[in-house]
Amino acid sequence: MNVKELDQTYIASTYKRFPLEITEGKGSLVKDEQGKEYIDLGSGIAVTSFGMADEAWLKAVCGQAARLQHTSNLYYTDPCAKLAEMLCSRTGMKKVFFSNSGAEANECAIKTARKYASDKYGENRFTILTLKNSFHGRTITTLSATGQEHYHELFRPLTPGFAHADAGDLDAVIAQHEKTPLAAVMIECVQGEGGVIPLDPAYVKALSEFAEKNDILLIVDEVQTGNGRTGELFAYMHYGVRPDLVSTAKGLAGGLPLGATLMGEKTANVLGYGDHGSTFGGNPVCCAAALSILSRIDEKLLNEVKEKSRFLFSAFTGAPGIESISGLGLMIGIKTKKAAGEVVAKCMEQGVLCLTAKDKVRLLPALNIPMELLEKAAEIIKAVCAE
Ligand SMILES: *Cc1c(COP(=O)(O)O)cnc(C)c1O
Repeated sequence: MNVKELDQTYIASTYKRFPLEITEGKGSLVKDEQGKEYIDLGSGIAVTSFGMADEAWLKAVCGQAARLQHTSNLYYTDPCAKLAEMLCSRTGMKKVFFSNSGAEANECAIKTARKYASDKYGENRFTILTLKNSFHGRTITTLSATGQEHYHELFRPLTPGFAHADAGDLDAVIAQHEKTPLAAVMIECVQGEGGVIPLDPAYVKALSEFAEKNDILLIVDEVQTGNGRTGELFAYMHYGVRPDLVSTAKGLAGGLPLGATLMGEKTANVLGYGDHGSTFGGNPVCCAAALSILSRIDEKLLNEVKEKSRFLFSAFTGAPGIESISGLGLMIGIKTKKAAGEVVAKCMEQGVLCLTAKDKVRLLPALNIPMELLEKAAEIIKAVCAE
C-alpha cells in the first residue's frame, strides 16, 4: 500500500485530508511526493512560524535533542526556565504553566480560573462565559467552552459551567453575571476557526472593564493569534487590555508541540503543588525551539508582519471574485464569490496551499515569508477567484 492507502486504512477517519502528501520543505516552500513545489500559506495551521526547517530553529532543536530530550517535570531544566522568563518579561505576566497543545493550555486556564473563584467566593462561582462562534479545543471541557453547537452534539453530557454570549453583546454578559456569578470570561481577540473575525476593540475594552470591576478573570485564548501572528507578540496587545490568563500554543515552538498558560498578578499563585501537571509539558527540545522563535519575534519582524498584512489587504480588496477580507496581521480571511473549498482546491493545483475557516479562505503564512513569494501566491489566488 502507498502512504495514502495506509493512512486511509489505519488512521482514524477524523480528518478530511487534501489529496496531497507533503514530503519535505524549506522556508515557505513545500514539496509533494512527485516533487511538485507549493507556496505554503497555511503553515500547518499557524504553527511553522518561520517556515519549514528554518536554520536557526533547526540548530536550537538539534542541539538540544543531542544534549537532553526529556527529563519530566521532577527536575529543573534550562530551556524551560529561560522560556518562562522570556514570556513573562515580554508580556508583564508573572508565571507560566507549560503543556503540549492549545486545548491543554486552555484547560489549565479554566482550572486556574475555577480555583481562583472558588477559593475567593466559594463553590458556587464557577461559570466561565465564552463567545458564540468561538473555538477553544477538542477535549470534552474545551469543546464545552467552544461556542458552536455542532461541536457539542455528539458528545453530551458536556462539562457543566459554561455560558455563551454573542460577540459584541456586553449586556448579555452582564445579565449572565447577575443570573449566575461568573468566574471568568474567555475570548479570542480574532476568532480563527470561526471565520477570522476580529472582535470590536470598544467591546473588548468594555468587557475587560466590566470583568475587572467585578473580579471576573479575563482569559484570552491566544492559541492561534499569539506569537507574532497578528503583528503584535499577542493579539490582546492591539486591544490595550491586561488579561489575567493567556493561553497559547500553535506557533510558539515553530512546529513542535508546546502549550503555555501565562498567569498574571491575580492568578500566578492560584495553582499549588499537585494541583496540575503534565509529563511532556515544558519538554526541553520544545522549549529550546520556542526560545529560538520568540527571540526573533522582535519589533522589526512584527513591522514586517504588519507590512505584509497591508499588502494582502490592498491586493484583495475590491479584486474580482472577492467580496471582503478580514483579519489582523498575517491571519487573514477572504470571502470569495466561489465556495472557499473550490478556491483552495484550485489554488493547490496552481501550487499554492491555503486553508478555509467556515465560509472563508484563510491565510496563515509563515511570519518571515519572503515578499516575492507572498506576491506570487496572491496573484495566483486572485486569478483563481477572478475565473
Ligand atoms: C487551534 C486552537 C485551539 C486548540 O489547539 P490544539 O493544539 O489543537 O489543542 C484552541 N484555541 C484556538 C483559538 C485555536 O485556534
